Amino acid sequence: MYQSFLIKYAEIATKGKNRYLFEDALVKQIRRALKPVDGSFVVTKESGRIYAHAQGEYDYEETIEALSRVFGIVGICPVVVLEDQGFEQLKEDVIAYMEWAHPDKNITFKVMSRRVRKNWPVDSQTMNAKLGEAVLNAFPEIRVDVHKPDIYLNVEIREKIYVYSQVIPGAGGMPVGTAGKAMLLLSGGIDSPVAGYMIAKRGAKIDAVYFHAPPYTSERAKQKVVDLAKLVAKYSGPIQLHVVNFTDIQMYIYETCPHDQLTILMRRYMMRIAETIALETGCLGLITGESIGQVASQTMQSLMATNEVCTLPVYRPLIAFDKQDIVTISEKINTFETSILPYEDCCTIFVAKHPVTKPNLKSMHKSEELLQEKIGEMVQTALETREVIWAD
Ligand code: ATP
Ligand code: MG
Repeated sequence: MYQSFLIKYAEIATKGKNRYLFEDALVKQIRRALKPVDGSFVVTKESGRIYAHAQGEYDYEETIEALSRVFGIVGICPVVVLEDQGFEQLKEDVIAYMEWAHPDKNITFKVMSRRVRKNWPVDSQTMNAKLGEAVLNAFPEIRVDVHKPDIYLNVEIREKIYVYSQVIPGAGGMPVGTAGKAMLLLSGGIDSPVAGYMIAKRGAKIDAVYFHAPPYTSERAKQKVVDLAKLVAKYSGPIQLHVVNFTDIQMYIYETCPHDQLTILMRRYMMRIAETIALETGCLGLITGESIGQVASQTMQSLMATNEVCTLPVYRPLIAFDKQDIVTISEKINTFETSILPYEDCCTIFVAKHPVTKPNLKSMHKSEELLQEKIGEMVQTALETREVIWAD
């Protein structure tokens, strides 16, 4: 029944010259989201509004689902587009619309008319009154409420006539592409996909890096990370995933340094490598799924030790989240089921029984001195042999 969707977006981000950047990025993201959906949608920007017009048959649910993953949209309004056949015909069409669009008539409404095309003979005040009256006459149960109606019945006279009354909540945030790019440290866990989603929601593009340790971590563990990247990409757009072989570095640290420091030392090398790739690929920051106190490697002392090796900003959107809150988001964005698949993680394989929880920077530096002989070359090799996978 609906041929088109009116896309509502927040006004706050659309002032001044930013407006065009915001709108153009939003149009691009809507086109991308609707591409896999049938209907050959045409997405247009018309006098400060964005519409998606279906050219053919399409699946309504699938379309709404695709649109609700686009950051920057606050509301999705399914619209009926009518040819101008005069006001009397419009009254009938509006009644027919109300008949099927709102089967439950025990509601209040208010007509909101707009006459954008000035050669239409009826002004908006008169339209409000007459259309309201027509609807009231057609459905005895329905009532008008001009202050807090259940629905606003919008009727807009443009080249064609647009009728809509539903607003489906959008994802909010900013369109991807309005904020630069950041490098997500993506593991197979619950947290990092959520962290990537949250930063993408602020308009950032995402690339990702995954450290794997074959043969200690399996191909299936790697595939799980690729799958997670694809799930995040449904929101963020394509993700370039760098898969770094971390085995030699991990073994070298394990053989050379105190075992209780292993996790932190590993995390410091992960951050260094991630930052090198980030700088090479034009990223403006790193993203991790860390949260204060969640595990030994995420105490404030540990975070300080991990952070010390980076110069880029490290975005940690989950820093103050409880695990359950993170789980709730991961369920909402559909990464949870994949995240809990039981494949081993490179961090857990050599993990000490009693890892340090308050690492001391000096002793970290001392341990890293023990690594100086070979670590530079190993990091270089890890960077050079990385595999790049497009997750889309
Ligand atoms: P997650 O659920 O995201 O795996 P976690 O609770 O398991 O997090 P850690 O293993 O301490 O926590 O990892 C903290 C952060 O470090 C992760 O959120 C992720 O950003 C990054 N990280 C950990 N392991 C890897 C890895 N193998 N490859 C890439 N990044 C990693
Ligand atoms: Mg993990």
